[in-house]
Amino acid sequence: MKRRLLWQIFPAFWVIAVLGLFLIFWNLSGLMKTFYYQEKRVQLEKLGNLSVSSFPPLVENAQYDQIQALCRQMGRTAQTRFTMIDPQGKVLGDSQEQPEKMVNHFDRPEFQTALTGKVGSDIRSSETLQQEMMYVAIPIQKGDTVVAVLRTSVAMPQLQATLHSVLMEVLRYGLIIALVLAILSLGLSWKISRPLELLRLGAERFARGDLNHRLAVPQSREIAGLAESMNKMAAQLDERIRTIVAQKNEQQAVLSSMIEGVIAVSTDGKVMSLNSAAAAMLQETVENAEGRTIEEVIRNTELQHFVQQSLDSENPVEAQIMLHEKQQTEQYLQSHGTVLTDDQGRKIGALIVMNDVTRIRRLEKVRRDFVANVSHELKTPVTSIKGFIETLLDGAINKPEDAQRFLEIIARQTERLNSIIDDLLTLSRIEQQGGSQMLMETVPLRPILKAAVDLCEIKAGGKNMSIHIECDEAVTVLANASLLEQAIVNLVDNAIKYSEQAGDVRLDVVRCADETQIRVYDHGCGIAKEHLPRLFERFYRVDKARSRKLGGTGLGLAIVNHIAQTHKGRVCVESVVGKGSTFTFCLPA
Ligand code: ADP
Repeated sequence: MKRRLLWQIFPAFWVIAVLGLFLIFWNLSGLMKTFYYQEKRVQLEKLGNLSVSSFPPLVENAQYDQIQALCRQMGRTAQTRFTMIDPQGKVLGDSQEQPEKMVNHFDRPEFQTALTGKVGSDIRSSETLQQEMMYVAIPIQKGDTVVAVLRTSVAMPQLQATLHSVLMEVLRYGLIIALVLAILSLGLSWKISRPLELLRLGAERFARGDLNHRLAVPQSREIAGLAESMNKMAAQLDERIRTIVAQKNEQQAVLSSMIEGVIAVSTDGKVMSLNSAAAAMLQETVENAEGRTIEEVIRNTELQHFVQQSLDSENPVEAQIMLHEKQQTEQYLQSHGTVLTDDQGRKIGALIVMNDVTRIRRLEKVRRDFVANVSHELKTPVTSIKGFIETLLDGAINKPEDAQRFLEIIARQTERLNSIIDDLLTLSRIEQQGGSQMLMETVPLRPILKAAVDLCEIKAGGKNMSIHIECDEAVTVLANASLLEQAIVNLVDNAIKYSEQAGDVRLDVVRCADETQIRVYDHGCGIAKEHLPRLFERFYRVDKARSRKLGGTGLGLAIVNHIAQTHKGRVCVESVVGKGSTFTFCLPA
């Protein structure tokens, strides 16, 4: 755990300050002691000098009792010990002891100094009083001869107690100063560390991605410079990130709006990125696929092989690959693989672009089938016509009965050819008109149904059938009237064709919320269930022979379906074999 700067600076400041204070105190106490002792010595000397004049006559006349009495009296008055000593060191009088009991003082250092005529002093333990004392010895001279020494002294404990109380007072102030210093150094430490703490918090916001935040610029030049540099850095970073994000978004938008699937694969076989079209083709999600290996993402061995080939090859590769979707329908991908390089031209993987050509393949197949079907449909009547013409040319023409029959067959086959070509032309016309050029207008529906029914009336009459229309006059639809009429004609024509004599055909109109349904009911032969899904394909017939006999081309319902699609509508059928069918033509509302 890292300590806060404040708690590093503050103790250091405080310790330095208190150490300084302690040193000052230490010095001061030494100085004070010296000063105080010096003062005391001077005081003792002055006291001695004041009283020294009273002693010489007494010493001269050897009046020892009076010397002793004078010492005691002065000692009491001045609260100081007075001792009178003769030049041989014998104590003549003392304010605190009997002189007879006292030892010879000749060896005392202050006494020795006094014998030389100077004032002597010393601090030591007193043998007489058994405590630390300060002594000052003053010589009493007659001419140049020292006749006696007056010694003044004071007990050190007394001195030290005074000094101690003074020092304690100084220490008390020292502690108050230390406390004040603690507060001041805490404040100073906070002042230094606070801007750095603010910088740290700001930098953390930058790190979290909040690059719009700006650091406050503090007063001190160094930190202000740092804050300004960090602000500049954040602004530049923000700008760069914005540019990168914008570029990435653009790239993503381009990629995701592409119909082609795009996959970037790294040299170690991992999917670097792919667009949504590619993900849909591989039945994966973009998030799930990115970062995984191609074996995990692509479950088609052919495509895996193609990706590997693209990674291995230096040149672009191309192939058509068949995928199986979940529903087992085939999907064809026209795939291109190219080498992916970085800005220094080093190979970093391969880019696979996949184009779904399933629809084109299907359309090609439909066209091929259609051409084959048309050829087949045309070939049957043409072969038949050719056969009968050859038979006629071979002599049958001379047999009027045969000739008549053969010519009738030729006429029927020609009629059939004509119908097929008519239906093909109609289909092609719808295809050409379909889309934008087709004239669409809101028209009343009933007249269209009536016109269609009128066209089929003769055929219905021939089978003794009746057609009923149930449609409100007010119903209108948005449609191309002639195409819609054509579709209804086809449905009604089928209803008549595939019904027995005297059956009824009914047309009714149902309006739903989103579409108008035109229903054609008949009571004809009906259609088995298995044929229903393919009924609207070109040339699809349930019963080929029956259809041909009835003059059918197999294109009627294909045309109806096409017309429905060009109207963005649909057509559907419900049927029960032997009971009848209902074809429903739906137009969007
Ligand atoms: P066709 O020219 O043969 O009638 P269509 O495309 O109109 O061709 O119809 C396709 C097939 O659908 C017909 O061959 C027929 O078998 C069946 N079909 C169409 N309409 C009906 C109907 N109303 N009742 C029974 N079968 C029908």
